[in-house]
Amino acid sequence: MPSVYIKTYGCQMNERDSEAVAAQLVAKGYSLARGESDADVILLNTCSVRDLAEQKALAKMENVAAEVRRSRPNVVLGFMGCMAQSRGRELIDKLPDVDLVLGTQKFHRAADYLDDIFAGRRNKIVDTEAETGSEGAIREHLLNGNGQKSVTAFVSIMQGCNQYCTFCIVPYTRGEERSRSITDIVTECRELVARGVREITLLGQIVTSYGRREIPIRDGKSPFVQLIEAVHEIDALERIRFTSPHPKGYGDDLADAYARLPRLVESAHIPVQSGSDRMLKLMHRGYTRERYLGIIRKLREVRPAMGISTDFIVGFPGETEEDFEQTLSLAREIQFDQAYIFKYSPRRDTPAAAMPDQLPQEIKEERNQRLLNVINEIAASRYQKFVGRQTQILVEGPSRKNPARMMGRTRCNRIVVFDGAERHRGQLMDVAITRAGSFTLYGDPAILNLSE
Ligand code: SF4
Repeated sequence: MPSVYIKTYGCQMNERDSEAVAAQLVAKGYSLARGESDADVILLNTCSVRDLAEQKALAKMENVAAEVRRSRPNVVLGFMGCMAQSRGRELIDKLPDVDLVLGTQKFHRAADYLDDIFAGRRNKIVDTEAETGSEGAIREHLLNGNGQKSVTAFVSIMQGCNQYCTFCIVPYTRGEERSRSITDIVTECRELVARGVREITLLGQIVTSYGRREIPIRDGKSPFVQLIEAVHEIDALERIRFTSPHPKGYGDDLADAYARLPRLVESAHIPVQSGSDRMLKLMHRGYTRERYLGIIRKLREVRPAMGISTDFIVGFPGETEEDFEQTLSLAREIQFDQAYIFKYSPRRDTPAAAMPDQLPQEIKEERNQRLLNVINEIAASRYQKFVGRQTQILVEGPSRKNPARMMGRTRCNRIVVFDGAERHRGQLMDVAITRAGSFTLYGDPAILNLSE
């Protein structure tokens, strides 16, 4: 059987989609290639959120087509994901070496289409049609790679988004919100836990909108809170996370869930995008600065140790210095533990791309740097406060930057690196923090206290 290599651009949803496609192909007998040089199929899972991500994927495919095709003309080349969805056949017109273009509702068709191509039944396939029920097709997992057990897993609970933020291409590439059933999701979570997974992250473009068309509110609880409760029933599961919520959907029922459900860890990534009400309105975000501050206050009341992270956009069309200063002041007021800053990038067919007062790149760069300085300064002091304290981590495996050491994550989503051993993988441990680095904590192995 052929081997496949998938390169992924973009967000955790894309990582999860790639994993599911790889797992489906492995189940059909494919092997996973280490890189493009030894693969019979090369798939690029693409991102459209920023122009740079699209350009990178296009340049990569051009390069692969030139390098790989020259020596191995039978290699199959494909695009999948968001850019495949938004550009469709245009990609083959631009890059005729490409054999397969697979949209965001068609990941589960990859194996059949590759069979068709290898069998010579078809030679160019573009499929970007909507498909009912495709949200339930991102299901298979690649656990326990290289013989090592997987401690954490992502579970896709929904696809699409109906919020239509004016800067965002996702509603056009991922389609309308479509949610899986609670039963289906819980079954997948139970299977994962039975295979050794101890932490599950519920995943979707806008998880707080989960099931809002299909599942009624019950006892004042949104469908998303009902889903968390159902997953929380799984006894051997240690931790539940989710990403990404929308501030609009962060009701009291969700804040209260943190108080009632101990497996729901004290970590919240809540994209704010701007501290200026004027910008939030232009972005069509659907909340105000005050409402956002209220959510954070409530979460910290319920769980004082809550780790809070966010996303910001700087240089949105029409953003004045005063608007930007409100973003800086919001960052200082909230004291985020981590924040991802994006320089506004116009996306075709989105309303913001046609707005007046597009800002020059130099202003975006300058605001990006100023906000980054504030975020880094706040994070450094918040990380420093952990030094000398004992905290619980779930050990995930070797540190990515330093594979000789082990890495775990606190409940509030901070990475802790320590001198552990493979036998610690999957264990909950109490670690004394001895040092704080840039967005990383270091624990002392001499004072490890195993919890099991
Ligand atoms: S909530 Fe807004 S930013 Fe998030 S995916 Fe939906 S449209 Fe995009």
